[in-house]
Amino acid sequence: MNSYCSAGLSRILIDRRDGFRMKVLKAADRLQAADRLSRDFIHAQQGAALAALLEHARDTVPAWRDRIKGPEHIEGADAYHVLQDIPVLSKEELKENMARFLSSVSGGAVDNATGGSSGIPLRFKVDRMRQIAGEAAHIWGNSMTGWKYGDRLAMLWGSDQDVREALADARRALRCWIENIRWYNAFDMGEDRMAEYHRAMTRFRPHLMVAYAGSAYAYADYLRHRQIVPDYPLKGIVTSAEVLTDDMRKTIESVFQKPVYDRYGSREFGPVAAECSAQSGMHINEMDCVLEIQSDDPCSIPGPILITYLRNYAMPFIRYDTGDLGVFMPEEECACGRKTRRLARVIGRQSDIITTASGRQIHGEWFTHLMYGLEGIRQFQLIQETRFQYRLVLVADWHTASRHENMLREKILNAVGPESIVNFEYVQHIYPMPSGKHRFTVSMVGR
Ligand SMILES: [Zn+2]
Repeated sequence: MNSYCSAGLSRILIDRRDGFRMKVLKAADRLQAADRLSRDFIHAQQGAALAALLEHARDTVPAWRDRIKGPEHIEGADAYHVLQDIPVLSKEELKENMARFLSSVSGGAVDNATGGSSGIPLRFKVDRMRQIAGEAAHIWGNSMTGWKYGDRLAMLWGSDQDVREALADARRALRCWIENIRWYNAFDMGEDRMAEYHRAMTRFRPHLMVAYAGSAYAYADYLRHRQIVPDYPLKGIVTSAEVLTDDMRKTIESVFQKPVYDRYGSREFGPVAAECSAQSGMHINEMDCVLEIQSDDPCSIPGPILITYLRNYAMPFIRYDTGDLGVFMPEEECACGRKTRRLARVIGRQSDIITTASGRQIHGEWFTHLMYGLEGIRQFQLIQETRFQYRLVLVADWHTASRHENMLREKILNAVGPESIVNFEYVQHIYPMPSGKHRFTVSMVGR
């Protein structure tokens, strides 16, 4: 269906109850407009929303009652100071004391859950304001790429939850048709399936393809090896949910001949930051989130990303440690003219810590640094099979990459101990974990 018809039909037919869809579209318009207003305006709006959230949390949520200090009535300008004094909230703490983090006035809230990229599955509550804000943020993020409401959207995605809902429910299928959205299961990416996806997408001609970085890469790689030149998507590819390396971006862009826009988000908050056409960092959704980076120099030294989410009163997330590390862009205005702060990059903590035979613990990020700049290696996964046995799985050009084997083995043995064994395995694809995220390191020891 063309974009114009889809936009018109969606407005009339989708989520009419209580004017939900119109509220989503209004909120999306507000987000897009706010990005281009002054820093002072953004700061004032965010401060006022933060003050309101903190008061609400202190008044109605048992766990926050004693943690939020400050005056009885918090002014917008003071809200950031009050926030700074609040202790960081970890996923573990939230999970263990779930009931205490619910607001006493959370009527109408529904359950949601995350698969837990950091290994901690979390169930949480979302209210209607959060649902509206989340959908609006998707429109906001997509629109950064030149996508317009009603444009065709191909989702190469695989969160079981989303796909099951999309396929099992006939009403949902009809809804996808009206909304110009098609789903392609990223958890089922065998060659036959990818051939099917290619045929279907050729017919559908999406404007935008939204995919896990790894899935977009695997799909691009499949097309490239068959010398298939796709004539879709028409506008670009959005990657999300896992780390996009420069090499992956280059491959995807060269196969599709369209730009890749990276995005950072989570199931808890929806899209948090999105790349614009300038492709120079990800604009933060500052109307819905206060994003902090705990680092002495957050523009150069990566630190934990803390999010205070302003639009979920059923279960306020305040200074919530996402488990990811990030770095801000310097505070200069983006070439696109938007005034929001940008994230330069996100380092997803999607790795197991490797505990060596001698007891040394090595963070997964260490192994990613080992691979920096090595020609021919597109993706890797280090698997610790036993205390002494490691397997380095590579998606790589064997002729080029095998020249690095001795150097890699030596460096890894230096770190994990000389008594260990490192084997190499070359594969076509490394598939994401059931959570949809890619893990750089996997330890089978102690599982
Ligand atoms: Zn920009």
